[in-house]
Amino acid sequence: MSDEIVNKVFELYESLGKNGKPAANEWTCLAAFILEDASGGCGVVSMATGTKCVGGNAMVIDGTVVFDSHAEVLARRNFLRYLYGQLEVVKNGGGSAIVELEDDKKFRIIDGAKIHFYTSQLPCGDASIVPTNFESDQESIENDELPAKKAKFDVHRTGAKPVKSDPRQDPKGGGAEYHARGAVRIKPGRGDPTKSLSCSDKIAKWIYCGLQGALLSLLITEPIELSSIIIGGAGPFDRQVLESALVGRSGLNGSESSKRRIPTMARSPIVFKHSAEATGAKRPCAASIGWADVEEKKLEVSVEGRCLGATKKSKKPRFLTTSKRSLFCLFSSVYGASKESAYGTLKKSSAAYEARKKEFVQKMGSWSDDKTEFDNFKID
Ligand SMILES: [Zn+2]
Repeated sequence: MSDEIVNKVFELYESLGKNGKPAANEWTCLAAFILEDASGGCGVVSMATGTKCVGGNAMVIDGTVVFDSHAEVLARRNFLRYLYGQLEVVKNGGGSAIVELEDDKKFRIIDGAKIHFYTSQLPCGDASIVPTNFESDQESIENDELPAKKAKFDVHRTGAKPVKSDPRQDPKGGGAEYHARGAVRIKPGRGDPTKSLSCSDKIAKWIYCGLQGALLSLLITEPIELSSIIIGGAGPFDRQVLESALVGRSGLNGSESSKRRIPTMARSPIVFKHSAEATGAKRPCAASIGWADVEEKKLEVSVEGRCLGATKKSKKPRFLTTSKRSLFCLFSSVYGASKESAYGTLKKSSAAYEARKKEFVQKMGSWSDDKTEFDNFKID
């Protein structure tokens, strides 16, 4: 099943043009959401590539720039775009393979529909701190003894640093003592530091609170659960570390009732052709591709969270369909929200989601700095 899913993702990737894909000396990461409908048919509903996020100084408060363009995060924003499209279809009397009407205001996920998530490498942050064992046989051979093999335990390094408020700061000791396990981390990057959390932290939140996020919780009755996570490629992988990062930290593996919400986690041996391992390239591609199974603007190419080619001086503002502002417009169109309400105010009004998120943050032990200033915009 997981190989069939990965091949579908690659097929879609191949069908897209070169625009936004890595050049010969570059690599990127690929992620996608796949819908398995109630009859077992599978199709990709959203996809993205990307390895970058913008620094704190480039963050804007009007919701027009996508701060985090790691493939996993951008694929999920495109998944939201797909969901809004499906809600519109159903609202207008059409049929959907994922949602149906609950009553005249709310929607529900169709019984038997499953969501799968593919990513071409381990998510950055906690899930990437996987053990690596080096065997050292440098001991000199004395008295005809066999060389003494000393196993030296170490872990892969992540450039993602713990958030300042997290008590689990990296001790930076030797070998496996370098990183603190379980910390909530800021995405790695050079220069102007980002405020975006690592993909491990964000995926842990999707699993705990639902894929739909705060706004869609006002429209969809139950949290949308992930059925499976497929990690592709030839890079490092450790199931225990992955499970601990994505569900162990939030305590989901603690009780029988919460275990039902845990997605299965699989490794696919198929390697993404533009991954760092397959290309051997050192430089990550600066551009991102975003794709959603929607009526208009299926495909979008972006750089630094903006449409490729858009300049600050262009007369018509063009911002990504995955920006907070665009998603807020889609929400308002289905929900009929008043234009008086700020994006952040509506998010906070989603009481059930807010309660789940509060519980999640408590279990994680820390979370990102307050970013409400970036949620105060309204749409006109
Ligand atoms: Zn990431």
